[in-house]
Amino acid sequence: MPAHDVLIIGAGLAGQRAALAAAQNGATVAIMSKVHPVRSHSVAAAGGINAAISVDDDWRSHAYDTVKGSDYLGDQDAIEVMCSEAPAEVMHLEHMGVTFHRNESGEMDLRAFGGASLKRTAYVADITGQALLHVLYEQLMKHHESVARFEEWFTTSLLLDEEGRCAGVVARDVRSGRMEAFTAKNVILACGGAGQVYKPTTNGLIVTGDGIAMAYRAGAPLMDMEMVQYHPTCLVETGILITEGARGEGAHLLNSDGERFMEKSAPNKMELASRDVVSRAEQIEINEGRGVGPGGSGIFLDVTVVPRKRTLEALREIVNLGRDFAGVDITREPIMIRPGQHYIMGGVKTDVDGRTPIEGLYAAGEVACVSVHGGNRLGANSLLDTLIFGRRSGEHAAARAASMGMPKVATLPALRADAEKIDAIISRPHEGRRVSEIKAELGEMMNQQAAVFRDETGLQGALETVGRLREEADRAWIDDRGTVFNQDVLGALELGFLIDCAETTVVAAIERKESRGAQYRTDFPERDDAEWLKHIEVARGPDGPAVSYSPVTITQWEPEERKY
Ligand SMILES: Cc1cc2nc3c(=O)[nH]c(=O)nc-3n(C[C@H](O)[C@H](O)[C@H](O)COP(=O)(O)OP(=O)(O)OC[C@H]3O[C@@H](n4cnc5c(N)ncnc54)[C@H](O)[C@@H]3O)c2cc1C
Repeated sequence: MPAHDVLIIGAGLAGQRAALAAAQNGATVAIMSKVHPVRSHSVAAAGGINAAISVDDDWRSHAYDTVKGSDYLGDQDAIEVMCSEAPAEVMHLEHMGVTFHRNESGEMDLRAFGGASLKRTAYVADITGQALLHVLYEQLMKHHESVARFEEWFTTSLLLDEEGRCAGVVARDVRSGRMEAFTAKNVILACGGAGQVYKPTTNGLIVTGDGIAMAYRAGAPLMDMEMVQYHPTCLVETGILITEGARGEGAHLLNSDGERFMEKSAPNKMELASRDVVSRAEQIEINEGRGVGPGGSGIFLDVTVVPRKRTLEALREIVNLGRDFAGVDITREPIMIRPGQHYIMGGVKTDVDGRTPIEGLYAAGEVACVSVHGGNRLGANSLLDTLIFGRRSGEHAAARAASMGMPKVATLPALRADAEKIDAIISRPHEGRRVSEIKAELGEMMNQQAAVFRDETGLQGALETVGRLREEADRAWIDDRGTVFNQDVLGALELGFLIDCAETTVVAAIERKESRGAQYRTDFPERDDAEWLKHIEVARGPDGPAVSYSPVTITQWEPEERKY
């Protein structure tokens, strides 16, 4: 049975950055991922990463923009940590080999992004996530003696010792179907978000909330789960993302009258207001009959106003996406987009060192809620979040490991329970519904009832549907009865994780009876600081999700009315 100082679940940016930091701090490390690391969703990040690098910028300005973007729900102490450490982290990445775009005078170039008071986003064309992920993967290879890799291993649950401390995980080797227990002094969850709760979503098929659900099942509280980000520019049919970099380069949003409607809701920032603001403005145009395309369900994104040479240089991936997935040459004609699920601000509650309330359990990246994004994340702040809090978790876990012995934990009962659960799914009779049908219904329902606009009736309906789907999922059947690369059975486990994430999202959205950030309640359209300037936490209780509150940390920026 393998035993390590630090066991990291997830090999996206947060996981790999944590692994590097832990190894550099003398820990023995294992990093586990259900897919090959460079296929993690981080690879899809296009637009860039924020840092106050420019001479006329200051990290406090970045922090203020982030606080305002969060609709004052972000914890300001954590935001200060993230923004003040950002410039050094980005420089460090460049020194490790990330080829950030440079301007004519040879300095690092920065592009404009939503909600930012000046150009602050460093980028590598529109493949920033890929560039970062590959460099970290290479750098980690240098530490092959202290870092063990478990690629294509699927974690099924967390192991707790008798005192309730996290002491390892149970996992399945995807290639062979073999189950194994791993002991560790510390576990860092870096499993990414839960975008697949929604359909469509910009997120990869593997983004199924596994880490959030495993932590929740182990007793860790989730925070800000009601805050689900809809990105303003997704392709109408598929939900594929057109990066905010397009608007950063100057693209316009137009309704069916050819009007730049952002003038109405954000006269100063226009298309570069925060994502929640732009998504709502688009949805209003669509709902009020000023949408474009079949059924008026879209909005035009006009990239033709950007010089063609610049588009081909800085936005080449979306030129390809437009051509391949919508049959549109974005350098010559507008493309139809609409708001689509993109990111979850909520996740496993942590402090600024990645610690969750369960001793020995850390979380970093999209799986975690520090909370630096509060009610709404600014574009290009997530890559930053993964790297800063990935590194801090790795450092803290390595230090903790140095001060303790290997925990003693009975692994056999959990190992057996998970193996039996998987066997039971494989041998279910072909009655009831398929996993894929239930997943599709869940996603479409959430996209109707827990989306840009919400109300009590819709959310209560969503909660009922989630309950029914949970029962159906417990009986759902699959085709593959084998052991080698049985993705079918993993899909059934992922559906269970998705349902936990959906339920906690809906419960928190029902609880928050106000409109703030991404949560817009048509029945409570105002922000209500007196009652709701607080985090909602959801933990698993004996009768399902139990809600509690925690205060928002305010250091230097008192809540103000939010205008762009
Ligand atoms: C299309 C797209 C574009 C984006 N563009 C930007 C951008 O330009 N700028 C920005 O700041 N943010 C962007 N984001 C958001 C950002 O990319 C993500 O929030 C971030 O990369 C998440 O990184 P992560 O390390 O937390 O998780 P991920 O990169 O999602 O990695 C999760 C890891 O966990 C592993 N894992 C999950 N479950 C299990 C399990 N059960 N067992 C074992 N392993 C498991 C996976 O295999 C994977 O290795 C974008 C997101 C999308 C979807």
